[in-house]
Amino acid sequence: MRIVVSGAAGFIGSHFCDRLLAEGHTVVALDNFLTGTPGNVAHLHGHPRFRFLTQDITQPFTVPGAVNAVVNLASPASPKDYLDHPIETLDVGSLGTRRMLELAREKDARFLLTSTSECYGDPLVHPQVETYWGNVNPVGPRSCYDESKRFAEALTMAYHRKHGLATNIARIFNTYGPRMKLDDGRVVPAFLDQTLRGEPMTVFGDGSQTRSFCYVSDLVDGLYRLMLSSERYPVNLGNPREMTILEFSRHIRAMTGSQSEIVFQPLPEDDPRQRQPDISKARALLGWEPKVTLEDGLRETVAFFRGLHASA
Ligand code: UDP
Repeated sequence: MRIVVSGAAGFIGSHFCDRLLAEGHTVVALDNFLTGTPGNVAHLHGHPRFRFLTQDITQPFTVPGAVNAVVNLASPASPKDYLDHPIETLDVGSLGTRRMLELAREKDARFLLTSTSECYGDPLVHPQVETYWGNVNPVGPRSCYDESKRFAEALTMAYHRKHGLATNIARIFNTYGPRMKLDDGRVVPAFLDQTLRGEPMTVFGDGSQTRSFCYVSDLVDGLYRLMLSSERYPVNLGNPREMTILEFSRHIRAMTGSQSEIVFQPLPEDDPRQRQPDISKARALLGWEPKVTLEDGLRETVAFFRGLHASA
């Protein structure tokens, strides 16, 4: 297939491009580097089936030639990034998704939207199942991301219903791995950066809030399978192994051999109390479940961050 990928220089986007190329596909990659990193795709320049276009997908653009699939991965995704860029985040989920959907329609291509567990907000149902409608504060600081993605899901379903577009929607839960940005503010890079510098680890709140961390290769495998499926409604992709952030900080300390102390800082507004994907649907429909243990995934991630520190 010839596949257009937006957000290709992002953390997940770049790994997804690697997977598509490994499967023998041709990739037309788009990114405007608002939060993406040129280094994430540097190894792909010169690849005969990879073409990169610097493009803001909220602006008009064309992709010459046939396209079989359109994959929309473009968006600031870390709380720090979307709080820094709230308008761009709303624009890329709405205008950007619209342009990507129009591209799919024009090319008669299939379409995959990468949405988020943030659609569930601060969930009152646990673990989160796709049929749960969520508990989102529509005017809180995180609403720029949550509502942007919820709008993107609604728009995707509208294109499917109105135009018969073959669409898929992934709801991605916390994902980690190499190519996350050192300064993107999310808990994995934050804790790794702090331990590698020998600085205290900043746990927000009392650390009793929970998350479930999925290694990026597992997530990308789920996305790839979903892209080839005929499921039109959202599918959760994430690792069901749930833990408190305090527990997670201890894993990081053990993995890095660090003596960093833990300091407690205020919990950000609307920080979800608990998050764990119910992946029964992905298991049944896609035959998918995560395979990489937290220990193995963190080992790879620590090695990557050590490299960043060494070259800084
Ligand atoms: N967190 C933390 N210390 C940090 C960064 C994040 O305790 O330095 C917490 C944050 O409050 C949240 C969890 O870790 O409860 C995951 O945060 P992250 O920003 O990685 O992603 P989120 O799941 O909130 O989108």
